[in-house]
Amino acid sequence: MELAQARSILTPATGFIRRGGFDWTCNPYTGCTFGCRYCYAMFLPQNRRPREDWGRWFQAKANAVELARRQAPRAAGQAVYMSSVTDPYQPVERVLKLTRGILEALAACQPKLVIQTRGPLVTRDIDILSMFEAVRVNLSIPTDDEEIRQAFEPKAPPLDSRWLAAQALKESGIPVGLCLTPLLPVANHAAFADRVAGFGADVVVVQEFHDAPRGWGADTTDEAVGLARRFDPSGNGYLLMLRSLNERGVDYHEGESGFFPPSGLGQRASGG
Ligand code: SF4
Repeated sequence: MELAQARSILTPATGFIRRGGFDWTCNPYTGCTFGCRYCYAMFLPQNRRPREDWGRWFQAKANAVELARRQAPRAAGQAVYMSSVTDPYQPVERVLKLTRGILEALAACQPKLVIQTRGPLVTRDIDILSMFEAVRVNLSIPTDDEEIRQAFEPKAPPLDSRWLAAQALKESGIPVGLCLTPLLPVANHAAFADRVAGFGADVVVVQEFHDAPRGWGADTTDEAVGLARRFDPSGNGYLLMLRSLNERGVDYHEGESGFFPPSGLGQRASGG
């Protein structure tokens, strides 16, 4: 495990995250051991390791909680995106609890918070998330099929565990976003759309796989593009998914706009 001393834990938002209305990003870790094969973060200049090593390393910001206690007042009432280049609930978080400590520090200052994760471990922190007046947890569930998930996200949690986490959050009164992003090949579009429609998320976001090289969503690997072709040779999967969602009346956002609606950030259900 690599530990580093960070200079800051709240970074001024830039680029599409800033355009979307966020003021700050918060990344407790550098690198991500979920190691999704399409992850744009592996291309970022600060991640100087070979791309083939993506998913095999991470660095924990050892002083993250201390920094958060000091810097949280800056974010009072402002919008924080956690996280933009790592997953705040990757496996090591179970032990290090950096994300949890940061949340405790932030809660005192009440920023508008969006958590972005594939990690069901987020349910551990329902007690703290419940203290935020404006919060949403975006769970990434980009396919309906475990074989496909394992091909693209071999070290990320199984899809069912993410659905269970989404349900637990919802039952706790915490707004949930379902992110079909990037939309991977789907085995049964109708059944997947039924599940999404039936869940009743606060926000549904869909983003085409590799729709904008080097733009929003950034780059992906040739390997991931090849995998997508293998599972979806016609390349029609995205349109089929949109049609299935439309047929069920799901009010979804496409790509960027769905991630950043702080004006529409769900207020917690009272008494949740
Ligand atoms: S969980 Fe997110 S940050 Fe981690 S590898 Fe997957 S896409 Fe990248």
